[in-house]
Amino acid sequence: MRDPVDVLFTDLDGTLLDHYTYRPGPALPALRRLLRAGVLVLPATAKTLAEVREIGAELGLADGAIVENGAAVAPPGGLAGELTVLGTPYQVVREALAGAAADAGVRVRGYGDMTAEEVAAETGLSLPEAVRARSRQWSETFLVTEGDPAALAAALRRRGLRTVRGARFLTAMGDHDKGEAARLVLRRLRRDGRAVRSWAVGDAANDAELLAAVDHPMLVRAGHGGWADLDLPGLVRLDGVGPAGWALIPELMLR
Ligand SMILES: [Mg+2]
Repeated sequence: MRDPVDVLFTDLDGTLLDHYTYRPGPALPALRRLLRAGVLVLPATAKTLAEVREIGAELGLADGAIVENGAAVAPPGGLAGELTVLGTPYQVVREALAGAAADAGVRVRGYGDMTAEEVAAETGLSLPEAVRARSRQWSETFLVTEGDPAALAAALRRRGLRTVRGARFLTAMGDHDKGEAARLVLRRLRRDGRAVRSWAVGDAANDAELLAAVDHPMLVRAGHGGWADLDLPGLVRLDGVGPAGWALIPELMLR
């Protein structure tokens, strides 16, 4: 009988990485402790595969990842190898976005309409970061330059796509989420009868599906200092903003 395996799914922006600096800060020693103890740590993020590969190489995360809001699951092993895709191909999303914009009488400008230099200028990312952010495979990030974003979201829904709203940008994608992808990972780990203890940590309402998919959901404090307005059975509210809250995870997981 093999030992049970502990899995931790972690959101990146505002959770493992600081909302403003994009650095793990005090979470880094905690992450190292978990990895040394044999915990599988999988990013579950809106970021692209190229972005997660870069961050994963830097932080020593090689257990796999959930990218583009659950559009794909990258397997372990340097996040290379075969992907499991739950998302809608990028060109299909782009075409549906153009159609929905026409339906709603809205003008949009997506990453696919911008050069990497323009994405860098719009977002404050460095040029290499903008190249990775722009390498989307199953979702399109865009600005509404004219018209009503709510009308656009309704038109996208009629075409079978979801819209996720960030601070400035919106993202259009197929009907998938981080929670569905996490359940797929957990089913795989349990396939040969192995006992799996599942944990997840996030900072925002868009992590709700992810947190609902695990036995032990956790929230760090959000950038404004409070916790996201979520209620789930057994939810643990970590007392620190982003990485400062993340740093408390080993006390819970390794006791
Ligand atoms: Mg977040």
